[in-house]
Amino acid sequence: MTRRRPQESYQNSVAGPIYQSASYYFEDEDHVRAGLHERSRPAGRYGRYSNPTWLEVEAAVSKLCGAESSLLFASGMAAHFTTFVSLLKAGDEVVLPAESYRQTRNVFHHILPKFGVVVHEISIRDPDVFIDRLRALGSRLRLVHLEMPSSPHMYLIDVAGVREAVGPDVILTLDSSFSPPPNFHALQWGVDLALFSATKYLGGHGDIVAGMLSGRADLIEQVRWFRDTTGPVSDGNTAFLLRRSLYTLPMRMATANAYGLKTAQYLEAHEKVTKIYYTGLPSHPHYKLGQDYLRGHGAVITFELGLSEAETAAVVGRLAVPYMASNFGAPQTLVEQSTFFTYFEYDDAGLRDIGVDRSTVRLALGYADDVDLVIDDLDRALATA
Ligand code: PLP
Repeated sequence: MTRRRPQESYQNSVAGPIYQSASYYFEDEDHVRAGLHERSRPAGRYGRYSNPTWLEVEAAVSKLCGAESSLLFASGMAAHFTTFVSLLKAGDEVVLPAESYRQTRNVFHHILPKFGVVVHEISIRDPDVFIDRLRALGSRLRLVHLEMPSSPHMYLIDVAGVREAVGPDVILTLDSSFSPPPNFHALQWGVDLALFSATKYLGGHGDIVAGMLSGRADLIEQVRWFRDTTGPVSDGNTAFLLRRSLYTLPMRMATANAYGLKTAQYLEAHEKVTKIYYTGLPSHPHYKLGQDYLRGHGAVITFELGLSEAETAAVVGRLAVPYMASNFGAPQTLVEQSTFFTYFEYDDAGLRDIGVDRSTVRLALGYADDVDLVIDDLDRALATA
C-alpha cells in the first residue's frame, strides 16, 4: 500500500494555492508509468523540476508575452546565465550591447569565454552603427543578446532591424526588464526569447527576487533541461507573489508611465538639470525608436546636474521622499547616484567608456508615492544645488 496524504478538504479556491513541497507522490505503478515514463498524465515528481505554483506563473507570463512557453528562475541573473549556458557551446560567436546591465556583461566577458564562447561587444548609442556591425558579423553569429531600454541612458534598439540584419537563424534574446508588456512586446519584433528580472516591474512590490524567460518552446526546452539539472529555481511562495503581482501589471505600468513622463517633463524644464534621459521626451537621442517600439516609457529617469560627484551627493542627500537604493518597479521611489552606487568601482576612464558623468542621478518613481510630492521634494533639493 502506497502512503497517501489526505486530499485537500476542498479544491475550489479562487486564488491558486501556494505549493511548498520538495517532492510529489505517485499513487501506484500505473501512476508512475503515466506520470513519469509516458507523460500521458500530468504529475509532479520533485521540487527542483516543477511546482504547480510555478506552472501557474509561467502560464500567466506566456499569455502576457504571447509566448509559446515560459520558465521561472530564482533571479533575473539566473534566467540570463542559464539561458546563455544552455544555448551556447565552444566556438559560438555572440554579440551583446556595450550598455548592457553590468552583471550581464560579467557573464559574457568573464564566464562564457571560459567555455570557449567568443564575445563581441558593440555600443548601441548609434543604432545604425550597431546594425552595420551586426551585418558585418552576419552568419558567423549564433546568438545576439539585446537589452532595452539600457540603463542608465535608456538607449533603444531597432529590434526589427537587428532581426533583418542577422537573418532568421541567429537566436535573438532581449532583456525586457525595463520595458515589460504592455510597454513593449519583444516577441512581436522577431525576438526568440524575452528575459526579465521579475524582481522589477513584474514582481512590482520590491519584495521578491525572481527571473523569467519567455518565448520559443524549442529553445525553452533546451533551457529547461539545464534548469532541471542545475537547479536555479524559485519557490512556491515567491511564485505565488509573482503570480498575484501580474494581475496588476497593466495598472502599475500605466501609473509608472504617467509618473515618469510628468517628472521627466518637470526635470527637463529645470534650470539646474543639464541633461535628461527619458525616451518619452523628444530630446532623447532614441525618441523616434521609442515612438516605434514603446507604448509607454516607464518610471525610471536619468539626469545630470553638471556638478562634481560631491555636489551631486549633497543634492541627492537632501531628498526626503526617495529611498537611496537600487531597484525600480517598486511601490517606493528610489534614487541612486550612479557613480556612487552601481559604478563606484569604475575609474574616470571606465566611466568615460560607458558615458556616465559623475553628476548622473537615476530616479525610479514608486507607484505608491504621490508624484506631486516627489516633484516638490526634487524642487527643494535642486534649489540648493
Ligand atoms: N537585467 C536588468 C536590466 C537589471 O537591471 C537587473 C538587475 O538590476 C537584472 C537583469 C538582474 O536581475 P536580478 O537582480 O533579478 O537578478
